Amino acid sequence: MSYPSGHPQQYNPQQPAPQQYNPQQAAPQQYNPQQAAPQQYNPQPAPQQYSQQQPAPQQYEPQQPAPQQQHGRSSRMSDSNLRLVWVYPDLLSTYGDRGNALVVERRARQRGLGVQRIDVRSDQAVPTSGDIYLIGGGEDRPQRLAAERLRNDSGLVRAAENGAIIFAVCAGYQILGREFINDLGEREAGLGLLDVWTTRGEGARCVGDVLAEVDPRLGLPQLTGFENHQGVTHLGQGVSPFANVQVGRGNGTGDGTEGAWRDTVFGTYLHGPVMARNPAVADMLIKLALDVNALPPADTTWYDALRAERIAATRQPA
Ligand code: GLN
Repeated sequence: MSYPSGHPQQYNPQQPAPQQYNPQQAAPQQYNPQQAAPQQYNPQPAPQQYSQQQPAPQQYEPQQPAPQQQHGRSSRMSDSNLRLVWVYPDLLSTYGDRGNALVVERRARQRGLGVQRIDVRSDQAVPTSGDIYLIGGGEDRPQRLAAERLRNDSGLVRAAENGAIIFAVCAGYQILGREFINDLGEREAGLGLLDVWTTRGEGARCVGDVLAEVDPRLGLPQLTGFENHQGVTHLGQGVSPFANVQVGRGNGTGDGTEGAWRDTVFGTYLHGPVMARNPAVADMLIKLALDVNALPPADTTWYDALRAERIAATRQPA
């Protein structure tokens, strides 16, 4: 028996057919932050995931006061739950970039914070009330579709205007900029949240492991990651390089810069996932969300092992 084309059983929500998407219909009214049940966006409440799979009481300190209480400073967060938005997992999630959401969530829970993880597919409206937005990398066509939808939706731009923290990788980074070259070879408008623009590199694709020193103002240790992109990203006056490469290509402009940032908006070319290799980056986002300078310590044994392995391998390629 064969199903006629368009039979509902052929529909796979993981792979929404772009043709079916009509931005006119992608109704913000489908999602009303006031009304929408959080469960809609958090189908797998995470505490059980972690407590069942990784019962590590020595790492998790629920008794510990929430960091903002400890430091007595005001927080960006409206309540004690960190609202973590993972933007367009169906289009932008190459090289395990989903791991960034897992690590931010894990690092927050290790500090006794509640986390509301909100995965927003590309046929859903981006909520404006998130604290941290994460965006991953993507191939050229999904990247164009994601840019179109994010421009039409405008939720991410409004969130940024409200001071939300945004961390984007590779294609996501390019989309945050003013424009990039799409899969059709045309200039495609980005969101203009970072003063960068991306052209198509004439030379070989930038592929390989990266080591970089992060902008010292961000107080982060050496960055390790993996890059794979054709785009070359140029930085305008309104941003600073996120890092400078010691190994690898980064922005691909030949000046050694890697990524870009301003205020609470960050873009990088690094996969890895970058948060798994550099948990201090996840901690930085959490500190920004809480508006604190420090967090209670949390176990980094496995992260340190991964970091050491990748840093050694990058210094001495096989
Ligand atoms: N498609 C973009 C490029 O090649 C981004 C690739 C990626 O996200 N890995 O430049």
